[in-house]
Amino acid sequence: MYDYLIVGAGMFGATFARLATDAGKTCLVIDKREHIAGNCYSKEIHGIHQHIYGPHIFHTNDEKIWSFVQRFATFNNFVNRPIAMNFGKVFSLPFSMYTFNAMWGVTTPEEALNKIEEQRLKLDREPYNLEEQALSLVGTDIYETLIKDYTKKQWKKDPKDLPASIIKRLPVRFTWDNNYFFDKYQGIPIGGYTAMFEKMFEGIEVETGIDYFENRDHWNSKAKQIVFTGKIDEFYDFKFGELEYRSLKFETEVLDVDNYQGNAVVNYNSADVPWTRMIEHKYFDESTVEKNKTVITKEIPDEWDRNKTAYYPIGDELNMGIFKKYRELANQDDNVIFGGRLAEYRYYDMHQVIGSAISKFSKN
Ligand code: UDP
Repeated sequence: MYDYLIVGAGMFGATFARLATDAGKTCLVIDKREHIAGNCYSKEIHGIHQHIYGPHIFHTNDEKIWSFVQRFATFNNFVNRPIAMNFGKVFSLPFSMYTFNAMWGVTTPEEALNKIEEQRLKLDREPYNLEEQALSLVGTDIYETLIKDYTKKQWKKDPKDLPASIIKRLPVRFTWDNNYFFDKYQGIPIGGYTAMFEKMFEGIEVETGIDYFENRDHWNSKAKQIVFTGKIDEFYDFKFGELEYRSLKFETEVLDVDNYQGNAVVNYNSADVPWTRMIEHKYFDESTVEKNKTVITKEIPDEWDRNKTAYYPIGDELNMGIFKKYRELANQDDNVIFGGRLAEYRYYDMHQVIGSAISKFSKN
């Protein structure tokens, strides 16, 4: 009998398993996929650690979380400086002085602020949706060029029908600083995420290629408590309805060139290009890359259904209403701990998932 059966070998499962094992508990980890690391999974080709399920850039402000991940990998000094393209022009992301300069030719923060002030949506209440949030933050030009079509592509919804919270992720700053994240710590694990997860799981029993739902009773009988990191609605047999997600398709090519796009992340913000961004993986970690080889991936938003990977929870009112019912049920269930993007139905970053696992483990 194990202390914990952990369903899912992604970031929540790995963190929880590590903490529990360090505290002298026994864990069995199972995962439906043939590999560990969940959506952080990376695979090496030509010395390039390809991020198979989309770009994962680690960042945090939290000392505890940063020192936790240091145990399993050496992080490089990668800084995310994405660029965005539309109407034949290149803009810097986050929205910074570089973006305002490219948009309007302004060169000082005061000029940029004035320009935004001229076209900003002025509300005397909180923005109701993503469009209002964006227009009140950066005004019409940036909204039309860099947000509107990208967002429609990404979510296949009108920005008026999306929650304001999504765009709060996007940084705005009036300095010549094009580091996307505000956090104190940032980097990519040298040698790839998969190697980092292997270290997290050291000394822990992990079985991949196992679908918990195919034999629930069997797996439940193996442990005193369950840590579940899959979809919370599936756990409860969809009894209150099915939660919606957005999925992604990835088109990857290996090219015999040294430098294809000159940056790790390039966003394609126009409506007529089907992908939202293109990743050139070598720029995340250049330490072992072979000469004259590069791997690029186009990331194309996709309708989600049960057979596809659920990447982004749709945090609108309808879905949150359904989720709250599941959460109430989960709160009464002392035998199961729910954690991660799918079980908590939250648009989490990696460091937030680790934070959640630390907190749930310590409360347990
Ligand atoms: N977004 C945008 N233009 C961009 C990048 C992002 O309008 O060039 C919006 C879009 O609605 C997206 C949200 O900001 O869903 C969050 O973007 P982020 O890049 O943080 O998302 P992730 O990396 O998690 O896909």
